[in-house]
Amino acid sequence: MLRTGKEHLERLRDGRIVYIGGEKVDDVTTHPAFAHAAQSAAAIYDMKADPANREALAFEEDGELFSNYYIRAKSRDDLRKRSVIHTKIAEQTYGFFGRSPDHVSSFVTGMSTSAETLNTEHGDFSGNLLNYYDFMRRNDTYATYAVLPPQAARDPEFYHKQNLPVPTLQVVREDDDGVVISGMKMLATGAVIADEIWIGNVIPLAPDQASQAITCAIPCNAEGLSLWSRKPMEPNAANEFDSPLTWRLDETDAMVLCENVKVPWERVFCINDATHSYRIYNMTPSHCYGNHQSNVRFLAKLRLIVGLASKVTQSTGANKIPAVSETLGRLAAWEAGLAGMIAGQIEAAESWPEGYLTFNRRMMYAALNWCTENHSAVVDILRELCGGGVFQMPADVTVMHDDVLRERFETYWQTPQMDALARMKLFRLAWDMVGSEFAGRHQQYEKFYAGAGFIVRGHSFRETPWGELDGIVDGLMSSYDVPNANVAEAAE
Ligand SMILES: Cc1cc2nc3c(=O)[nH]c(=O)nc-3n(C[C@H](O)[C@H](O)[C@H](O)COP(=O)(O)OP(=O)(O)OC[C@H]3O[C@@H](n4cnc5c(N)ncnc54)[C@H](O)[C@@H]3O)c2cc1C
Repeated sequence: MLRTGKEHLERLRDGRIVYIGGEKVDDVTTHPAFAHAAQSAAAIYDMKADPANREALAFEEDGELFSNYYIRAKSRDDLRKRSVIHTKIAEQTYGFFGRSPDHVSSFVTGMSTSAETLNTEHGDFSGNLLNYYDFMRRNDTYATYAVLPPQAARDPEFYHKQNLPVPTLQVVREDDDGVVISGMKMLATGAVIADEIWIGNVIPLAPDQASQAITCAIPCNAEGLSLWSRKPMEPNAANEFDSPLTWRLDETDAMVLCENVKVPWERVFCINDATHSYRIYNMTPSHCYGNHQSNVRFLAKLRLIVGLASKVTQSTGANKIPAVSETLGRLAAWEAGLAGMIAGQIEAAESWPEGYLTFNRRMMYAALNWCTENHSAVVDILRELCGGGVFQMPADVTVMHDDVLRERFETYWQTPQMDALARMKLFRLAWDMVGSEFAGRHQQYEKFYAGAGFIVRGHSFRETPWGELDGIVDGLMSSYDVPNANVAEAAE
């Protein structure tokens, strides 16, 4: 099924508990903190459901239509279709929706190609996963995830000594009809405007943390679940002109607090297995499918940044300076380089698991690492190119509502390259990219959304065929030997 935007907004009115500080939100689709973000999510659904996009973005099976990010790829063409729908969604949100509906669904789809991995001595959960995959694609579900323990949970002794519960989410009871979970999980980006939350662990747990090793899916309105939003940024935007990104692209982040939430067994995918609970993402194409989306999403944002850098330099005339062209050339090379890394993941696809083709893992992690390490540097180049332009504009667009002020603004603020209003519009957008609170959230997001940098590099280390690389060195060194005395003498 392909959900429409209207249907998505209706689903969000489901009695979910969302807090902004001390305020309980009645309806996330109308609250000024989230309404535009909800509409942006709805617009993604409308774009997918548009009959004009069916051919490019959906596939049919048994007479039903499903979004292309539910394709379990068996060919490069399938992988390309996946990449295309990620691109379409990322372009619509300019890469600012990291957890768009195609992110976690890709994790689940990738995992479903190797669902038997979920069958262990602790239970056979492959059927649950395959059913969930089917549930998601049939309902066009928007799932997000919370797969990290909160920072507060790192010293269990502190809580034990005071007879307090350890704050991290764990199983507190197993019943015939399901498990009961309590505790907190960080940090469910998008959950406020999504349907479901995937709970899991993407970093290793210690063997004595088996109760935390629960992987399951819960609806955002589950009884006992509350979402504790960080400060929403949408209210920072007085209008779209002054804060065009903040206005509609703050995808939200929330801590997930579960207090005795009942999860039916059919939504449990892993339990009581500290090692397996994080390995399921890497033993299956789950991480690879999900983070290919992240790479594609980042590229859409990078293209906006590079375009902005170009336009800003045009507006000041700096684009004519050779040193500035060189800077733009560097940015453009990075953008093309990332595009190449993404295309390479398809061209060098891996035959894995049996019967399926998966994006090249090493190239996916290379791109992920590049994005994690370079976002701040890229934004900083744009910041430098903006100069003080971002602060030379009047406080807000209301200057255009006063005839006298508007005339003076239009006279004095124009440059030979651009009229005053166009400059103001451009620099407002640039500021939302480099300096607003929304921009600051994205600096943080790009550093951490796939785990801290050392985690990302750990994935790269794990997937590298070190024997092959070491072999190159061994091969070269074995091609020569200790010179005999005569050769050494001749060289002197
Ligand atoms: C905007 C945003 C959105 C997010 N969205 C999601 C989401 O949708 N779902 C989700 O599950 N999570 C999400 N996260 C959480 C994210 O995955 C974590 O922030 C990330 O894994 C880092 O964990 P941490 O915050 O506990 O940092 P820490 O683990 O405390 O690390 C902080 C810093 O400490 C240093 N450090 C700590 N340990 C080591 C080490 N062993 N070696 C070297 N250096 C170390 C590093 O400098 C590191 O950057 C999001 C985070 C942010 C900021």
